[in-house]
Amino acid sequence: MISEADLRNISEVVGPAHLITRTNDLEAYGSDATKLVYAPDAAAFPGTADEVSKILQLATREGFPVIPRGAGSGMSGGALPVRGGLVLAMDRFDRILSIDPDNLVAKVETGVITGRLQAAAEELGLFYPPDPASSDISTIGGNVAECAGGLRAVKYGVTRDYVLGLTMVIPTGEILKVGVETAKGVAGYDLTRLVIGSEGTLAVITDITLRLLPKPETNRTMIAFFPDVSSAVRIVSRIIANRIIPTVLELMDRICVDAVKDEIEFPIPPRTGALLLMEVDGDEAAVARSADMIRRVCEEGRALGFESASGGEAVDRLWEARRKLSPSLYKCRPHKISEDVVVPRTRMPELVSHLEALSRRYGLPIPAFGHAGDGNIHVNIMLDKSDPEELEKAHDVVEKVFEKVLALGGTITGEHGIGITKAPYLEMEIPRAGLELMQRIKKAFDPKGILNPGKIFDGSGSKEWI
Ligand SMILES: Cc1cc2nc3c(=O)[nH]c(=O)nc-3n(C[C@H](O)[C@H](O)[C@H](O)COP(=O)(O)OP(=O)(O)OC[C@H]3O[C@@H](n4cnc5c(N)ncnc54)[C@H](O)[C@@H]3O)c2cc1C
Repeated sequence: MISEADLRNISEVVGPAHLITRTNDLEAYGSDATKLVYAPDAAAFPGTADEVSKILQLATREGFPVIPRGAGSGMSGGALPVRGGLVLAMDRFDRILSIDPDNLVAKVETGVITGRLQAAAEELGLFYPPDPASSDISTIGGNVAECAGGLRAVKYGVTRDYVLGLTMVIPTGEILKVGVETAKGVAGYDLTRLVIGSEGTLAVITDITLRLLPKPETNRTMIAFFPDVSSAVRIVSRIIANRIIPTVLELMDRICVDAVKDEIEFPIPPRTGALLLMEVDGDEAAVARSADMIRRVCEEGRALGFESASGGEAVDRLWEARRKLSPSLYKCRPHKISEDVVVPRTRMPELVSHLEALSRRYGLPIPAFGHAGDGNIHVNIMLDKSDPEELEKAHDVVEKVFEKVLALGGTITGEHGIGITKAPYLEMEIPRAGLELMQRIKKAFDPKGILNPGKIFDGSGSKEWI
């Protein structure tokens, strides 16, 4: 609980107009895309790194939690005030500071919406590739804190691959500019990379320097239908073995296809048990060559149908199934537990067979979709949480999925982070010595443990949130 005296001090730092304490007004700051709700004591909207520094110094002295928050679109509960405290909402850090076409560098404040930067870069013929499906709502700071991936990661990598440097404020109040503004730089430990993906537990990021690329000349979108998910995932490896790296390579399995097929205008061939949505980009000749090759690979791999489109409404039509997917899944059960596991691409057939076996064994639908191009499958365990038996089964399924993924050489989270929802499982992947070293690093940044407590390390076996 933050004391009245501390609230007065915070108000003096940010100004009374930028602090909220009324329970009703705070509702929006106690939840995120997990739909879990925890009440903060207050939410502050700092406007400068100096204000962030003063608040963190106060919190370290007085011992209240501070929870950095971007847009609250996180899928693992990273922005939730699980121990109350002050939500530090970074909404006012919303300026694109510069875009430099000669050096291919952009500087942005942390609260800039990802899609806004993408659009601003495109206007100058440039390209900011990381594109989480949430890019219309998520912030760049949230993307950096989670090391967000996205649809184009298969070819262009993830947020980490585009961050050159950043300004951050650590819990003891120091404002540090780390990394570089140049194409290269190896001076000292790479503190930039340490903070990327640290889920708001090490530092509050205030601005970020990002690498841009020239915008690709053109692209083409394709959709291919397969009788079953195993045939579809085998095609993913075959495409890449043919030395084509598509920009997008998304999978939907049978349950996903069935969930959307009556809601879209696009005709899905009978007997379809999976589909792949693909995109290639580059110059005209390279795009035509890659698209031809992909068509051939799909046809050789028992595709039931194949369509391709360039630009405008035709492309939108091909994306319709993917766009409508998430809400449609609730047709089979009222709740879902979403995991974002990754396995080496060539091990995907084993993973999907295992999911099918688990679904049969536990009697729960387990639709799988997502970024198959990088082996990152969104596994959705559908259930009715009001049924204790289904809840118990779902817990078992999560553990079995993680065991299999790790046995296949994968990871339990490709992009959504550990937050609170995966904290009970982190030990399955990271050996004790690794976890202890991480905790010592956390202590060096945050000796009093005030920054985003209860995240990543504090699972202590509790799975109440799923
Ligand atoms: C429909 C939908 C689709 C999605 N698709 C994808 C996808 O394709 N790929 C993907 O990777 N993710 C995806 N996500 C998850 C989510 O959008 C990302 O994790 C995103 O990066 C979160 O950004 P945010 O601004 O909403 O951060 P928040 O949810 O507000 O916060 C996320 C974490 O970042 C920390 N944080 C936020 N700002 C700062 C800061 N300035 N300094 C320090 N820490 C900070 C928070 O403390 C928290 O731990 C999706 C979410 C939704 C709802």
